[in-house]
Amino acid sequence: MSSVSPASLRIGIGHDTHRLQPGGPLRLGGLDVPFDQEAVGHSDADVLLHAITDALLGAASLGDIGELFPDDAEENRNRDSIEMLSIATQKVVASGFTIVNIDCIIFAQRPKLSPYKDAMRQKIAETLALDTDCVGIKAKTGEKVGPVGTGEAVEAQCVALLVRS
Ligand code: MG
Repeated sequence: MSSVSPASLRIGIGHDTHRLQPGGPLRLGGLDVPFDQEAVGHSDADVLLHAITDALLGAASLGDIGELFPDDAEENRNRDSIEMLSIATQKVVASGFTIVNIDCIIFAQRPKLSPYKDAMRQKIAETLALDTDCVGIKAKTGEKVGPVGTGEAVEAQCVALLVRS
């Protein structure tokens, strides 16, 4: 990276929130995590993949996930967010960028996510054509306060770094 001019680097940020309701499993990071609650949304409501998609689109100045995949479009109903992330990645690459790395935080009071983080990293890395060590995932609880801490919602944040190819 020492030969890379700072002007060719782009950073993006993404955030997403989805409400939880009784049901399950919890779709997160492209996995069906066993849980007695599920996220509510027009697509598969994968809060982590939505945050990643927005971070990548933002870094490349390509708008946001809602513009690309409107939540009132029939084709996006129950849509697999891996597919949306894959399409967004293709657009980012087609506009002349290479993804350097992403780093993410999932905010969920329950379930305990540490057993699933590596499988999520692997699935996301495959989708972005990155090495697994270029995908960071951390999980935090809401310390039992606020919408996350009381189990009303699950949230995620992501930062993405791109370099002009
Ligand atoms: Mg969303």
